[in-house]
Amino acid sequence: MTDSIGRLSIVGFGLIGASLAASLKRAGFSGEIVAVTRSDASAQQALEQGLVDHAVADIASGINEADIVLLAVPMLAMRTVMKDIAPVLSPRTVLTDAGSVKQSFIEDARAVFGSLRNIVPGHPIAGRELSGMAAADDKLYQGRRVLLTPTEETDAAAIARVSALWTLAGASVECLQAAHHDRVLAATSHLPHVLAFTMVDTLATQQEVEEIFRYAAGGFRDFTRIASSDPVMWRDICLTNREAVLASMDAFGEHLQLLRTAIDTSDGAAIESILQRARDARDAYSAE
Ligand code: NAD
Repeated sequence: MTDSIGRLSIVGFGLIGASLAASLKRAGFSGEIVAVTRSDASAQQALEQGLVDHAVADIASGINEADIVLLAVPMLAMRTVMKDIAPVLSPRTVLTDAGSVKQSFIEDARAVFGSLRNIVPGHPIAGRELSGMAAADDKLYQGRRVLLTPTEETDAAAIARVSALWTLAGASVECLQAAHHDRVLAATSHLPHVLAFTMVDTLATQQEVEEIFRYAAGGFRDFTRIASSDPVMWRDICLTNREAVLASMDAFGEHLQLLRTAIDTSDGAAIESILQRARDARDAYSAE
């Protein structure tokens, strides 16, 4: 199926875009891969890394003759990039993305292109707290899920092409509704990141900050690893998935309050029951 993809252009050649190029090359992808970067210097860097066949900073020539264009830029840059490519995008090219929020991508695409026929919104459930092409990993998508959120308008052949690409990169592809995706990811990914950032920020602004970090144990490191993620990327996710992130934060706040009350009233039975319920749920999910 990927044999029919003669050229893939990746706009935004950071961790996610460069890891896809690396994974496809490793899997023997037969087409050409073009990296579209923001500067000539990063285009040069992408070429030197040996993951792509061409690299350019000029978006129009970068997407020329592409069978698939994949956008892997931060969420709030999606619309700008779409506007840049709209005048030159061939009607036969499939446009897809790797962004973490799907409804906002669809809104952007509808506003810029009108028709969503050849547009396949996507999100690899794989990543790291590192960014940039230097962090590219040719096994990043191995055994991971990629969620596609096509609309009713999306052409079945376009979905099949994008699925084939991710499958070759080692992922398994599932389709779901964009609104559902955004709610689930708000709870499972966006809320944990918000909490990790807030946790570190809370401690970092306390007076004993040096002591706190000096004595930080493994649990603190595990829990806060994701607070090393890129602030621009996470700012954009918070703003583009605003409603769902707020709902998850509110639900968390209510549960935190329950535990706070139990501690405040020295209600040992309540504390233990909350912790036991959480532990059972975590163990059941880890055993899956
Ligand atoms: P990154 O910072 O490593 O790469 C982003 C790239 O986009 C950079 O090369 C940057 O120069 C480029 N860029 C930024 N603004 C641009 C613009 N206006 N025009 C052209 N290029 C621009 O980030 P990443 O981790 O690769 O994330 C890319 C996308 O993938 C984001 O939408 C993110 O939400 C999504 N995503 C990230 C992860 C993760 O764990 N990092 C996981 C799944 C999805």
